Amino acid sequence: MKIIPAKTAGFCMGVRRAVNIVLELVERTDQPIYTLGPLIHNPQVVELLKRRGVVPAESLEEIKSGIVVIRSHGIRPQLREELEKRGLKIVDATCPRVARVHKIVEKYSQQGYLTIILGDAGHSEVEGILGFVQGEAYIIEEPEQVQELPEADKVLFVAQTTQSQEKFQKIASALKNRYPQLKEEELKIVNTICDSTERRQNEVKELAGRVDAFVIVGGKKSANTRRLKEIAEQEGKPAFLVETEAELVPEQLRAFPRIALSAGASTPNWMIRRVYEELRQIALLEHSLPFRLFQRLVRLGVILNFYLGLGAGLLALLSGVFLREKIYLLSGLIAFFYIFAVHNLAVLSRPGLLEVIEPGRGRWFLRHRQSLMSISFLGLVLGGLFAFMHSIWSGLLYSGLVFLSLLYQVPFGRKNQRGLFPYQSLMDIPGSKDIFMALAWAVVIVLVPMVEKTELHFEPRFWLLFSIIGLMVLSRSILQDFRDLQADRMVGKETLPILLGERKSRWLVNFIILTGLIVSFLAWQFSGIGISIWGLFLGMAWLWLCVPLFTIRTVIQGLRAELLIDSGFILAGALAVSYTHLRAHETSLHLVCRLLLE
Ligand code: SF4
Repeated sequence: MKIIPAKTAGFCMGVRRAVNIVLELVERTDQPIYTLGPLIHNPQVVELLKRRGVVPAESLEEIKSGIVVIRSHGIRPQLREELEKRGLKIVDATCPRVARVHKIVEKYSQQGYLTIILGDAGHSEVEGILGFVQGEAYIIEEPEQVQELPEADKVLFVAQTTQSQEKFQKIASALKNRYPQLKEEELKIVNTICDSTERRQNEVKELAGRVDAFVIVGGKKSANTRRLKEIAEQEGKPAFLVETEAELVPEQLRAFPRIALSAGASTPNWMIRRVYEELRQIALLEHSLPFRLFQRLVRLGVILNFYLGLGAGLLALLSGVFLREKIYLLSGLIAFFYIFAVHNLAVLSRPGLLEVIEPGRGRWFLRHRQSLMSISFLGLVLGGLFAFMHSIWSGLLYSGLVFLSLLYQVPFGRKNQRGLFPYQSLMDIPGSKDIFMALAWAVVIVLVPMVEKTELHFEPRFWLLFSIIGLMVLSRSILQDFRDLQADRMVGKETLPILLGERKSRWLVNFIILTGLIVSFLAWQFSGIGISIWGLFLGMAWLWLCVPLFTIRTVIQGLRAELLIDSGFILAGALAVSYTHLRAHETSLHLVCRLLLE
C-alpha cells in the first residue's frame, strides 16, 4: 500500500490567520475570550483552544463580558451591531476573501441586483453573506434550482468560498440560459470560490487518476472537507473522511494499493501527520516479517532517541579525532547516554504536547511513561559513570550539566502565573530550548571529554569545534520547531520560529548553516586540520539539504524526517571515525581517501 500525501493539505490562509489572531489574543489579555460557534470546523483544534481559555459560545446569552472573536466565516452586520450594543469588545478574524464577498454582495444589492448565492443553506458563511444583501436573495445548491428563480432585471451570482468550481460553472451557464435577455453587466457572475479551496479540489481530481482511494482528514461538519470527499467520489474513487487516525479501518484500507491523503482547509498539519503515520503502520503490515521487524526497530530507534544519541556519540568520537587525533570510546558513550536521556526526559516532561503532535512517539511515551523515565535516569547515571571513568573532572562537569538540564526542565512555578517570572519552568522561557540544547550538546561532546586535569588549555581549534557543534544542533532544533509550528502555538510553546516568524527563522537557519560551512571550510584550508573537519562540513551540508523539507513542505513525514535530519550527525561522526580507523591501519582505502580529501 502506497500513501501519497496531497501537497495542498494543511490550514488555509484564512483559518491560519484566525487561529493566530486568537492565540495572540490569549497571550495578550486576561479577559474571557469567546468565539461565536467553534472557531473552525475541527473538534480537536477547538478542544485545544478551550484548554487555553477560548470558549465557543452557542448563543449571545452565554457571553456576559470580555472579547468576542468573529470567525473566518464572518457574521451578519446586524449581529455585529448587537455585540457592540452589549458592550463587548470585538476582534474580527473574518477571512479577507469572505469579507470580499460581503463587499460585492452589498455593492450590487444596493444597486438593485437580485442576489443568487451558490452555498449550503444554514452554513454560517452563507448566513453572514446574506446579512449584507439589501433586497432579495436566493441560495441555490444545484443547477436545477435555477429554473425556479424569479424574473429580474439585474442578477448577481456569487458563491460560498468553499463551493465546487464545477458546480459554479454549471450554475453560471444555467443562469445565462435562464436570463437570456440580460447583458453582461446586468448578469454579474463573480467567481468568489477561494483559490485555496480550488487548489485542493484540483489536486484531488489530479490525484484521482493516480490512486485507488482517498483518505480525507478533517471535521465532519466542515463544508470544504466534505466537498473534497464528494469530488473524490465523483471521480469514481472511494473516499474515507476521518477526523482522527483512530477512525481508520485497516481492513477497509488494505484493499487499495495506492491511497491519496488530503485534508480540509481547517485541518492542522499535526493531525494530517498523525493520520499519515497511522496509514504507514497499516501499510507496513503487508511486508514480510523480517522487513517489518527492521522497520519497527528503526522506528523505535528514532522514537526513543537512540538514533539521536548515536549521532551525538559519533560526534563525540569526531571531537577526539579533531582535538587529539585519537578515538576516545568513553567520550562517545558519555555523549550517547546523556543525549538519549535528556531528550527523552524533555519529551516526558510535556505530555500535553505529546498528545497533539507526536503520533508515534506520543503513544509510546504515554504508554510506557514510567519505564521510559527509569531508563532515561539510568542513561544519565551510566553517562556519569563513564564520565568519571574518563577523569574525575569530566565526571564533575558532567554532573553539573545533568543538574542544570534537570533544573531547566523541572516545573517549579504555577501555570499561567504573572509577575517577574511568568513561566512554569526555565524551559518555558521563549526560544530558550534551542539555545540551551545547542550549548548542552557542545558541552557534553567537546568540553566534558577535554577536562582531564585542573589546568585547561583551550586552543583555537577547541572553540572552533565547540561553535560548529553548537551551530549544528541549533539549526537542527530550529528545523524541528518548524515541523511542530502549529501545534506548538496551540499548546502555548514559544519556539524561535514562533517568536521571530517563519520568514526570519528561515533566514536565521540558513545563515547559521552557511556560517558553519564557511567556518569549517576556512579551518580546513588554513589550519591544517584533516579529515575530521570534512565530517563537520558534510554534516552541515546535510542539514542544509534538509532545510526545504522542514520549512517549505506542508506535510512532513514525521519520524522519517527526523531520521533524515539526524543522519547528518551520524554522517559527520562516522566519516571522521572510519577514516581515523583506516589511517591507524594504513590500509589502501585510507591512502585513496587521503589522496582524494587531503
Ligand atoms: Fe478564507 Fe479560503 Fe480559507 Fe475560506 S478557505 S477561510 S475563504 S482562505
